[in-house]
Amino acid sequence: ESSETTQLKQLYADATELFHHILINTAMGEEALQYLHKRGLSDDMITEFKLGFAPQKELLLPFFQEKKVKQELLRKSGLFSETATGDLRGRFRGRVLFPIRDMQGKTVAFSGRLLAQNQKQPKYLNSPETAIFNKRKVLFNFDKAKTEIRQKQFVILFEGFMDVLAAYRAGIKNGVASMGTSLTNEQIYLLERTTSKMYLCYDGDSPGQTATARALSLLEPLTKMTLGVIRMPEALDPDEYVRKYGEAAFKELAQNTHETGLAFYLHYYEQGRNLANEDDQLAYIADVLKQLAGVTSPIERDLYLNQLAKRFGVDKDSLAAQLNDFMRKSG
Ligand code: ATP
Ligand code: MN
Ligand code: MN
Ligand code: MN
Repeated sequence: ESSETTQLKQLYADATELFHHILINTAMGEEALQYLHKRGLSDDMITEFKLGFAPQKELLLPFFQEKKVKQELLRKSGLFSETATGDLRGRFRGRVLFPIRDMQGKTVAFSGRLLAQNQKQPKYLNSPETAIFNKRKVLFNFDKAKTEIRQKQFVILFEGFMDVLAAYRAGIKNGVASMGTSLTNEQIYLLERTTSKMYLCYDGDSPGQTATARALSLLEPLTKMTLGVIRMPEALDPDEYVRKYGEAAFKELAQNTHETGLAFYLHYYEQGRNLANEDDQLAYIADVLKQLAGVTSPIERDLYLNQLAKRFGVDKDSLAAQLNDFMRKSG
């Protein structure tokens, strides 16, 4: 490990401690601490994940200058942005900070959330890539989740950091999240070495469901892992679900209510359709058959053909003929 890498990790370790201290021990952090409590996070959780707060006031720069850290290193750290006059200025201001850790549990980046949303700034701001942070390789919480993933023999992929934390406090500790992007080959490889099953637990709102459908179709050809879905009801995200229905209800859902990818698509294609209406029925059946065309198991295909025939009162042979047609076309 190069000395620059070591030095950068030390900066992030120090920054993590400083921001955490500000959050839990100072008046500057009071509002942020209340915010996190309101969102259901206990002091234990806040300490376990070393959550922090970066106030508006410039603290990090004098802190590092006092330690005689070289300007050049500060510049490369991604913790600061440069003003027009070339001065450094803390990148994170007025944000709650989620330390992003590498496999060894060392902070290599932050994601900062605004306390109150506004139109001018993004809700979440992430560190830029640096010598120690490659966002294609990092999965939020993988270092802590690894052992639990092995034990439970599956991993749960969430959309957001708050969702991972909500699951964690409900006792579901095998959850991870990417940095707000779809999974990369590097992240898939990391997970495949740990488990053979992955469940997607994205937000129940329409963008979350669309992202689930997209992730399933992107991942299917890329991974040997068995894919499934934990579907959130009422457009809730996992964090909102825990707050509305409680930790026990979420735990039950996450442990025992998995759907296959195909079962997810059966629900997904119903969205925005009125299945009492024949045009919508036909469009729905066509979408499902196209999806079925990609299923390799003949038994699974047959099972769903039977279900469709029964549900819509159509002849199974006609469905099978249409399915064969789709299968020929998709080669
Ligand atoms: P919260 O509960 O704090 O509002 P969330 O996780 O529910 O956050 P979503 O809007 O559902 O937020 O977005 C899911 C994830 O996408 C976030 O956790 C974050 O990683 C990423 N994300 C959302 N908004 C932004 C943004 N403006 N810039 C970068 N990443 C973002
Ligand atoms: Mn969302
Ligand atoms: Mn969300
Ligand atoms: Mn949320």
